[in-house]
Amino acid sequence: MPRPSSAQDRLPRILDRLARAYPEAGCGLDFATPFELLFATVLSAQCTDRRVNLVTGRLFPKLDGPRSVVEMGEERLAEAIRDVGLFRTKAHALVSLSRDLIDRHQGEVPADRKALQALAGVGSKTASVVLANAFAIPALAVDTHVFRLSHRLGLSSAKTADGTAEDLMALVPKARWIDLHHQLIWHGRLVCQARAPACATCTLLSLCPEGRRRTRSGKQA
Ligand code: SF4
Repeated sequence: MPRPSSAQDRLPRILDRLARAYPEAGCGLDFATPFELLFATVLSAQCTDRRVNLVTGRLFPKLDGPRSVVEMGEERLAEAIRDVGLFRTKAHALVSLSRDLIDRHQGEVPADRKALQALAGVGSKTASVVLANAFAIPALAVDTHVFRLSHRLGLSSAKTADGTAEDLMALVPKARWIDLHHQLIWHGRLVCQARAPACATCTLLSLCPEGRRRTRSGKQA
Protein backbone atom coordinates (compact mmCIF):
# COMPACT_ATOMS: atom_id res chain seq x y z
CA MET A 1 0.00 0.00 0.00
CA PRO A 2 1.52 3.41 -0.90
CA ARG A 3 2.25 5.92 1.88
CA PRO A 4 -0.60 8.33 2.62
CA SER A 5 0.07 11.76 1.13
CA SER A 6 -0.68 15.15 2.73
CA ALA A 7 -4.14 16.01 4.00
CA GLN A 8 -4.52 18.45 1.12
CA ASP A 9 -3.76 15.71 -1.42
CA ARG A 10 -6.03 13.14 0.19
CA LEU A 11 -8.93 15.48 0.91
CA PRO A 12 -10.71 15.40 -2.50
CA ARG A 13 -10.79 11.60 -2.42
CA ILE A 14 -11.96 11.57 1.21
CA LEU A 15 -14.78 13.99 0.36
CA ASP A 16 -15.72 12.00 -2.72
CA ARG A 17 -15.84 8.65 -0.93
CA LEU A 18 -17.84 10.03 1.99
CA ALA A 19 -20.32 11.68 -0.39
CA ARG A 20 -20.78 8.39 -2.21
CA ALA A 21 -21.13 6.41 1.01
CA TYR A 22 -23.61 8.80 2.66
CA PRO A 23 -25.53 10.70 -0.03
CA GLU A 24 -28.50 11.19 2.29
CA ALA A 25 -26.60 12.23 5.43
CA GLY A 26 -28.40 15.05 7.23
CA CYS A 27 -29.27 16.43 10.64
CA GLY A 28 -30.42 13.67 12.99
CA LEU A 29 -32.52 16.00 15.16
CA ASP A 30 -36.21 16.51 14.37
CA PHE A 31 -37.28 20.16 14.13
CA ALA A 32 -39.68 22.41 12.25
CA THR A 33 -38.34 25.86 13.19
CA PRO A 34 -34.94 27.39 14.03
CA PHE A 35 -36.04 27.63 17.68
CA GLU A 36 -36.91 23.93 17.79
CA LEU A 37 -33.48 23.08 16.37
CA LEU A 38 -31.75 25.33 18.90
CA PHE A 39 -33.79 23.72 21.69
CA ALA A 40 -33.04 20.17 20.45
CA THR A 41 -29.33 20.93 20.04
CA VAL A 42 -29.10 22.07 23.66
CA LEU A 43 -30.84 18.84 24.71
CA SER A 44 -28.48 16.72 22.60
CA ALA A 45 -25.38 17.38 24.72
CA GLN A 46 -24.22 13.96 25.95
CA CYS A 47 -27.43 12.38 24.65
CA THR A 48 -28.32 10.51 21.45
CA ASP A 49 -30.38 12.20 18.73
CA ARG A 50 -32.86 9.33 18.99
CA ARG A 51 -33.56 10.03 22.66
CA VAL A 52 -33.78 13.78 22.04
CA ASN A 53 -36.29 13.16 19.24
CA LEU A 54 -38.43 11.00 21.53
CA VAL A 55 -38.56 13.80 24.09
CA THR A 56 -39.10 16.65 21.62
CA GLY A 57 -41.68 14.59 19.73
CA ARG A 58 -43.83 14.74 22.89
CA LEU A 59 -42.89 18.27 23.89
CA PHE A 60 -42.78 20.37 20.70
CA PRO A 61 -46.55 20.11 19.99
CA LYS A 62 -47.08 21.79 23.39
CA LEU A 63 -44.52 24.56 22.83
CA ASP A 64 -44.77 27.65 20.69
CA GLY A 65 -41.40 29.38 20.73
CA PRO A 66 -39.33 30.82 23.59
CA ARG A 67 -42.23 32.58 25.35
CA SER A 68 -43.94 29.25 25.95
CA VAL A 69 -40.70 27.85 27.42
CA VAL A 70 -40.42 30.78 29.85
CA GLU A 71 -44.11 30.40 30.77
CA MET A 72 -43.61 26.68 31.37
CA GLY A 73 -40.80 27.43 33.82
CA GLU A 74 -37.78 25.43 34.84
CA GLU A 75 -39.51 22.89 37.04
CA ARG A 76 -42.17 21.80 34.56
CA LEU A 77 -39.68 21.83 31.72
CA ALA A 78 -37.25 19.64 33.70
CA GLU A 79 -40.07 17.16 34.26
CA ALA A 80 -40.90 17.14 30.55
CA ILE A 81 -37.28 16.48 29.51
CA ARG A 82 -36.31 14.12 32.34
CA ASP A 83 -35.54 11.30 29.86
CA VAL A 84 -32.41 13.12 28.67
CA GLY A 85 -29.24 13.30 30.76
CA LEU A 86 -28.55 16.43 32.83
CA PHE A 87 -32.20 17.40 32.49
CA ARG A 88 -32.21 19.91 35.36
CA THR A 89 -29.16 21.75 34.01
CA LYS A 90 -30.63 21.71 30.52
CA ALA A 91 -34.01 22.99 31.73
CA HIS A 92 -32.26 25.89 33.45
CA ALA A 93 -30.20 26.59 30.30
CA LEU A 94 -33.25 26.46 28.02
CA VAL A 95 -35.27 28.90 30.12
CA SER A 96 -32.30 31.32 30.28
CA LEU A 97 -31.75 30.98 26.55
CA SER A 98 -35.44 31.57 25.83
CA ARG A 99 -35.44 34.72 28.00
CA ASP A 100 -32.37 35.95 26.13
CA LEU A 101 -34.06 35.38 22.76
CA ILE A 102 -37.12 37.36 23.88
CA ASP A 103 -35.07 40.21 25.39
CA ARG A 104 -32.56 40.57 22.56
CA HIS A 105 -34.27 39.26 19.42
CA GLN A 106 -38.04 39.51 19.96
CA GLY A 107 -38.17 35.75 20.35
CA GLU A 108 -36.54 35.01 16.99
CA VAL A 109 -33.39 32.93 16.55
CA PRO A 110 -30.76 35.13 14.87
CA ALA A 111 -29.13 33.79 11.69
CA ASP A 112 -25.79 35.19 12.77
CA ARG A 113 -22.91 33.47 14.55
CA LYS A 114 -21.92 36.38 16.76
CA ALA A 115 -25.50 36.96 17.89
CA LEU A 116 -26.08 33.25 18.48
CA GLN A 117 -22.93 32.83 20.56
CA ALA A 118 -23.88 35.86 22.65
CA LEU A 119 -26.98 33.97 23.85
CA ALA A 120 -26.94 32.22 27.23
CA GLY A 121 -25.29 28.81 26.97
CA VAL A 122 -24.74 28.84 23.18
CA GLY A 123 -21.21 27.88 22.14
CA SER A 124 -19.63 27.61 18.73
CA LYS A 125 -20.79 24.02 18.12
CA THR A 126 -24.45 24.79 18.83
CA ALA A 127 -24.23 27.97 16.75
CA SER A 128 -22.75 25.99 13.85
CA VAL A 129 -25.48 23.33 14.00
CA VAL A 130 -28.20 26.00 13.93
CA LEU A 131 -26.58 28.10 11.18
CA ALA A 132 -26.01 25.08 8.95
CA ASN A 133 -29.26 23.21 9.45
CA ALA A 134 -31.83 25.94 10.13
CA PHE A 135 -30.44 28.62 7.82
CA ALA A 136 -28.22 26.69 5.33
CA ILE A 137 -25.33 29.02 6.22
CA PRO A 138 -21.99 27.17 5.80
CA ALA A 139 -20.65 26.09 9.18
CA LEU A 140 -18.76 23.08 10.41
CA ALA A 141 -19.71 21.91 13.89
CA VAL A 142 -17.21 19.62 15.58
CA ASP A 143 -18.81 17.04 17.85
CA THR A 144 -17.17 13.94 19.26
CA HIS A 145 -17.43 12.02 15.95
CA VAL A 146 -16.12 14.84 13.79
CA PHE A 147 -13.27 15.43 16.25
CA ARG A 148 -12.27 11.74 16.34
CA LEU A 149 -12.45 11.21 12.58
CA SER A 150 -10.64 14.44 11.73
CA HIS A 151 -7.73 13.25 13.85
CA ARG A 152 -7.75 9.66 12.64
CA LEU A 153 -7.84 10.85 9.04
CA GLY A 154 -4.98 13.25 9.69
CA LEU A 155 -7.06 16.33 8.80
CA SER A 156 -6.37 18.05 12.12
CA SER A 157 -4.08 17.68 15.10
CA ALA A 158 -5.74 20.44 17.14
CA LYS A 159 -6.39 19.63 20.78
CA THR A 160 -9.78 21.34 20.97
CA ALA A 161 -13.04 21.18 19.05
CA ASP A 162 -12.73 24.85 18.07
CA GLY A 163 -9.17 24.31 16.82
CA THR A 164 -10.32 21.27 14.83
CA ALA A 165 -13.14 23.29 13.28
CA GLU A 166 -10.62 25.95 12.24
CA ASP A 167 -8.34 23.32 10.65
CA LEU A 168 -11.23 21.74 8.76
CA MET A 169 -12.58 25.07 7.54
CA ALA A 170 -9.11 26.04 6.28
CA LEU A 171 -8.80 22.74 4.41
CA VAL A 172 -12.29 21.98 3.11
CA PRO A 173 -14.12 24.07 0.47
CA LYS A 174 -16.90 26.08 2.12
CA ALA A 175 -19.55 24.50 -0.10
CA ARG A 176 -18.77 21.12 1.50
CA TRP A 177 -18.76 22.12 5.18
CA ILE A 178 -22.38 21.22 5.96
CA ASP A 179 -22.37 17.88 4.12
CA LEU A 180 -18.98 16.89 5.51
CA HIS A 181 -20.17 17.48 9.07
CA HIS A 182 -23.09 15.07 8.57
CA GLN A 183 -21.07 12.52 6.63
CA LEU A 184 -18.35 12.36 9.28
CA ILE A 185 -20.99 11.86 11.97
CA TRP A 186 -22.61 9.01 10.03
CA HIS A 187 -19.23 7.42 9.33
CA GLY A 188 -18.30 7.76 13.00
CA ARG A 189 -21.52 6.09 14.11
CA LEU A 190 -21.59 3.31 11.54
CA VAL A 191 -17.94 2.47 10.78
CA CYS A 192 -15.30 4.48 12.63
CA GLN A 193 -16.58 3.99 16.16
CA ALA A 194 -14.47 5.20 19.06
CA ARG A 195 -13.46 1.83 20.51
CA ALA A 196 -13.68 -0.48 17.51
CA PRO A 197 -13.25 1.21 14.13
CA ALA A 198 -13.97 -1.24 11.30
CA CYS A 199 -10.85 -0.29 9.34
CA ALA A 200 -10.67 -3.49 7.30
CA THR A 201 -13.96 -2.72 5.55
CA CYS A 202 -13.75 1.09 5.65
CA THR A 203 -14.02 2.96 2.35
CA LEU A 204 -11.40 5.44 3.62
CA LEU A 205 -8.73 2.92 4.63
CA SER A 206 -6.26 3.72 1.84
CA LEU A 207 -6.55 7.44 2.72
CA CYS A 208 -6.41 7.12 6.51
CA PRO A 209 -3.16 7.21 8.51
CA GLU A 210 -4.81 5.76 11.62
CA GLY A 211 -6.51 2.97 9.67
CA ARG A 212 -3.21 2.02 8.05
CA ARG A 213 -1.49 1.99 11.42
CA ARG A 214 -4.19 -0.18 12.92
CA THR A 215 -4.29 -2.68 10.04
CA ARG A 216 -0.49 -2.96 10.09
CA SER A 217 -0.49 -3.70 13.81
CA GLY A 218 -3.53 -5.99 13.61
CA LYS A 219 -5.37 -3.60 15.97
CA GLN A 220 -8.72 -3.29 14.21
CA ALA A 221 -12.22 -4.74 14.24
S1 SF4 B 1 -9.75 3.44 8.20
FE1 SF4 B 1 -10.33 3.01 10.33
S2 SF4 B 1 -9.64 4.80 11.52
FE2 SF4 B 1 -9.67 5.37 9.34
S3 SF4 B 1 -11.69 6.30 9.01
FE3 SF4 B 1 -11.84 4.15 8.47
S4 SF4 B 1 -12.56 3.12 10.32
FE4 SF4 B 1 -11.77 5.13 10.92
